[in-house]
Amino acid sequence: MRCAVCHADGGPGCTGEDDFLRHINGNKHAGLAQRGAFLGLLPNMAGVIPRLTLPKLIAAKKIWECSKGAAAVRPASHGAAFSGTDSE
Ligand SMILES: [Zn+2]
Repeated sequence: MRCAVCHADGGPGCTGEDDFLRHINGNKHAGLAQRGAFLGLLPNMAGVIPRLTLPKLIAAKKIWECSKGAAAVRPASHGAAFSGTDSE
């Protein structure tokens, strides 16, 4: 799972939802966002955004989606920008 803020450089990201939950509560992420704030996911190595099952992550995602909708920001990243990393 790739945090849209911290893993935008194409790194491996987090290994699972538990790991990702720790990530968004961690210092690195908190330096860019509020502690515990979900800020979007990037497609993983398989090119898919994993479905969330942890209630804490789902709740955080809903807050993020609401704030995103309020700002009326159109997401520009649908994978096309990462086509250069296919040959990893
Ligand atoms: Zn992050």
